[in-house]
Amino acid sequence: VTDSDQNTLIDGNSLVAMSLARAGVDRMFGVVGIPVTTLANRSVALGIRFIAFHNEQSAGYAASAYGYLTGQPGILLTVSGPGCVHGLAGVSNATVNAWPMVLISGSCDQKDFGRGDFQELDQIAAVKPFSKFSAKATDIKEIPSCVFDVLHWAASGRPGGCYLDLPTDVLHQTVTESKAEKLIVDAQSCRKEKKEEVIEIVKRSEIEKAVSLLRQAERPLIVFGKGAAIARAENELKKLVETTGIPFLPTPMGKGLLPDTHELAATAARSLAIGKCDVALVVGARLNWLLHFGEPPKWSKDVKFILADISQEEIELRKPCLGLVGDAKRVLEMINKEIKDDPFCLGKDHPWVEVIAKKTKENVSRMEAQLAKDVVPFNFMTPMRIIRDAILGLGSPAPILVSEGANTMDVGRAVLIQTEPRTRLDAGTWGTMGVGLGYCIAAAVASPDRLVVAVEGDSGFGFSAMECETLVRYQLPVVVIVFNNSGVYGGDRRNTKEITGPYKDDPAPTSFVPGAGYHLLIEAFGGRGYLVGKPDELKSALSEAFSARKPAVINVTIDPYAGAESGRMQHKN
Ligand code: ADP
Repeated sequence: VTDSDQNTLIDGNSLVAMSLARAGVDRMFGVVGIPVTTLANRSVALGIRFIAFHNEQSAGYAASAYGYLTGQPGILLTVSGPGCVHGLAGVSNATVNAWPMVLISGSCDQKDFGRGDFQELDQIAAVKPFSKFSAKATDIKEIPSCVFDVLHWAASGRPGGCYLDLPTDVLHQTVTESKAEKLIVDAQSCRKEKKEEVIEIVKRSEIEKAVSLLRQAERPLIVFGKGAAIARAENELKKLVETTGIPFLPTPMGKGLLPDTHELAATAARSLAIGKCDVALVVGARLNWLLHFGEPPKWSKDVKFILADISQEEIELRKPCLGLVGDAKRVLEMINKEIKDDPFCLGKDHPWVEVIAKKTKENVSRMEAQLAKDVVPFNFMTPMRIIRDAILGLGSPAPILVSEGANTMDVGRAVLIQTEPRTRLDAGTWGTMGVGLGYCIAAAVASPDRLVVAVEGDSGFGFSAMECETLVRYQLPVVVIVFNNSGVYGGDRRNTKEITGPYKDDPAPTSFVPGAGYHLLIEAFGGRGYLVGKPDELKSALSEAFSARKPAVINVTIDPYAGAESGRMQHKN
């Protein structure tokens, strides 16, 4: 399109795509429709891979996990109104998990807002409780600066979800090509100027104090979480653990930053480690419900916490003995440097290291004894052992493991072994169920060299099972293993004599159709499905699916009586 002076004209759709590409965005997830289909197409034309989903909720979960795995904001594109509302699932998940993500939604024509326009919603207000920062382009000229701002805020400080609102009329406005170029260059340089220097907030004296606390501790422990993973602090953690000989405990998604098989891993002696440690250095992990708020009875009342976190607010909230505000990688580098001048190491015969090693050995052999049995119909342990061994057989690069479900995730966390950083995605800080397929797609797109293996309950799978079609469409190397116990927590196991009322013959709220053929679902789209109920069947399905590296669903029949209600969180139900 040209104007009367024969200048090439650029519309809002193109300008958004150009700004995203210029900012380094190379992947997008979403669902197209009015008014963003052109925006998706223009982005693809500029080299951005657009992964088209069936539902914005799954696409949003994918964008959030993509942000975590790559450290770059994952982008979710949605239509206006209901599309944006569905996208809130993803943006809220990103914010709660502290992962960088940007939701971009089209919105209704500005002149018709308030008069009942098509898919009208005050989207800025709707997104506000779930996001760090929002921007609305009210004119085409604002597009580049809005794009650079949301991308910046999503990844700066504590990462989180941000929102960009693009009204339909703005997407249709035009500017000349030279003006578009100038707007992009100006926005880019303005953002560069505004970008605060990465301030190293932590002081040298605090690092000295941290090292002195660790040095004097009788029972020190290093705990790390997904904040250390996003900071890519694995080498610094390894150095710290190995020079000092201090045992370590990863949070569920911290697993793999150091291998679970490391001799100083206290994972299998978790209760003892947190209950008895006297100084805990916690890196990139919140003292929230997952870590029992750092309080008794799980922790000793006298434990001294040293918290290393990028967020000053987090330190203020927890009031630790010592707070180290800064990037985890940098803080650990400084700690390692400080230790180097006057090294100390607990050694294998240190009483604390010995007691943890002994407890670990006891707990591991107790679990191995349970795992060794071939129980049929399957409980959760037998198939989990078979899956663990098949995954270990793959070697490096290790697959990315996606896990959700109550019992499936709980048992999987204990049994499956993580050996490489950022290879575990699970229900996370919010305990979000339904993330499985979205996370699988994000993982396959973020790490094309790795296989992706999902181990999830039938309930978790069902939230987004239609995304099996997305797996097949993009031919992603994803093997989804469904633990099918015919319901949420298990099948219908009520005592029928105790059920009264007019709907007493309805299936239990926890139950699904017994023996559902989830493997047939993926076959409907041309993927590979397996139905297994015995050890040999599972082994052969895993071996075939892992070597094919093609989309597959393995439907594992589990005894409907095997799972506990609410998994390990029954006290909350
Ligand atoms: P987990 O679920 O593994 O326990 P959380 O999500 O609770 O981890 O905590 C992650 C913490 O890491 C958050 O408090 C966040 O502010 C922090 N964080 C995020 N990025 C960094 C970083 N680069 N360096 C240090 N801390 C970080």
